[in-house]
Amino acid sequence: MSGKDLLLHACCAPCAEYPVFDLMERKIGTEVLYFNPNIHPKFEFERRGEQLVKLSEIDKFECHFSDDFRIDDWLAHKWEESYSSRCLMCYDIRMDYVAKYAKEAGFQRFSTTLLVSPYQNHEAIVASSERAAKKYGIEFMYNDWRPHFREGQNMAREHGLYRQKYCGCIFSLEESDFREKIVSSFPDGWEEQR
Ligand code: SF4
Repeated sequence: MSGKDLLLHACCAPCAEYPVFDLMERKIGTEVLYFNPNIHPKFEFERRGEQLVKLSEIDKFECHFSDDFRIDDWLAHKWEESYSSRCLMCYDIRMDYVAKYAKEAGFQRFSTTLLVSPYQNHEAIVASSERAAKKYGIEFMYNDWRPHFREGQNMAREHGLYRQKYCGCIFSLEESDFREKIVSSFPDGWEEQR
């Protein structure tokens, strides 16, 4: 298959390292999409996007970006309307958009770097992806990259990429053991960044 084969959703550059490497090894034509309205605050949202640009220049892949940023959904606990947890809403928001974007842009299939993380709810990500694939009539390409998570993180270290210490939303930041260190890395503090 050539041309617009696979659209790979990237949650961040370090998590994209191994999946991109693997897909290139398998000669699967891949373009990458950064769509992560769950990443807060705005400084962090932009910082992770910039790291993906850096990786795209190293690995030479085409990158698509969305500037959708939805802190209000999280601050308003919007998931409580229809989900048992914020992460289920988070996966659905992202996979729905990615599947729709991939279909409209003419890709054959889509996947996500979320599948590399042993810290994410793998089964819920797969379920969200399959729902979105069915909704938009596009194939979801499943890959269990979790055994290679550390390998990917080491690749990111070698490339000098920023490796964040929280998942992305404001709640995961507040829950992080590294909260103080993270907040101190924001140029204007935390409250001002919202
Ligand atoms: S912890 Fe991560 S997956 Fe869960 S809602 Fe926050 S950003 Fe999304």
